Amino acid sequence: MKKITIIVPAYNEQDSLPFLYERLEKLINSIDNYEFEILFVNDGSKDNTINLIKEFRKKDERISYVDFSRNFGKETAMIAGLDYAKGDAVIFIDADLQDPPELIPKMIKYWEEGYDDVYAQRKSRKGETFLKKFTSKMYYKVLQALTSVEIQKDTGDFRLLDKRCVNAIKKLRESQRCSKSIFSWIGYKKKAILYDRDPRIAGKTKWNYKKLVNLAIDGITSFTTSPLRISTYIAIPTFLALFIYFIYVIAKCVVTGDVIQAFQAIILLVLFFSGVQILLFGIVGEYLGRIFNETKNRPLYLVNEYNGEKETNE
Ligand code: UDP
Ligand code: MG
Repeated sequence: MKKITIIVPAYNEQDSLPFLYERLEKLINSIDNYEFEILFVNDGSKDNTINLIKEFRKKDERISYVDFSRNFGKETAMIAGLDYAKGDAVIFIDADLQDPPELIPKMIKYWEEGYDDVYAQRKSRKGETFLKKFTSKMYYKVLQALTSVEIQKDTGDFRLLDKRCVNAIKKLRESQRCSKSIFSWIGYKKKAILYDRDPRIAGKTKWNYKKLVNLAIDGITSFTTSPLRISTYIAIPTFLALFIYFIYVIAKCVVTGDVIQAFQAIILLVLFFSGVQILLFGIVGEYLGRIFNETKNRPLYLVNEYNGEKETNE
């Protein structure tokens, strides 16, 4: 019998988890011919999340859990989920029931038809502000314009991945992770399922605009080095203009015999070029920071315990 692992990253989800478990359990009980594993990744929750998970496991042996030593973020919780998953396929699902578990049978159906990556695509986003919808739309546009890899629009992390996608992603151990770009990058046969995204069932969103902007920058820089090229695009016409202006000034001096008069112009130029340089340094710094983080070569996360066993880091 094929096994499917449902991976649930959870950070302070004590209010949603009982609802989630109830709905997931009902759903997987209704699907025959497959074995299920529900793998919670407790991402350093400060509330009762871990105890709830342990209680679920006592009642239900299909439940597993990885308990992080602290909060590492959802992206990291996801890769840990892949590392510990035992299934022939995995399904990522949010703990807050924004992703309806009822889509899972459809995902499995397409998987059986030979698709490797069956992802849920949002038709609507209930309970989200206009600003969040708008910024997210613009972000996709910018990201797609910057890269040649095809990006799946209006797609979150709710998806089924075949084992070979899982193994591929496990090879990508970069520390600044952006699943969106990773899912696109691995390729394989993809299939979209349309659905309406529900509002969160309980608790509060863990996202804020600062986190979103950071994720957006990570997304762009992990996908492509084309921001580096912006500097070239700006630099070429700038130096061309400088060159032409230089020739012009010199020629004028030679023809009229005047001394160069334009200290204001020089100040403007200085300001302009220091502006350009700051921009370039910013971009270089961005990538340098990434190289710094990657070369540290730290493990992506530390585990406190897995299914009740203490991790000793030996
Ligand atoms: N999450 C996590 N670690 C974090 C933040 C969030 O594991 O540091 C989990 C969270 O418990 C939930 C999922 O990621 O299962 C999505 O989080 P949330 O609903 O807050 O994000 P949103 O749906 O608002 O984008
Ligand atoms: Mg949510």
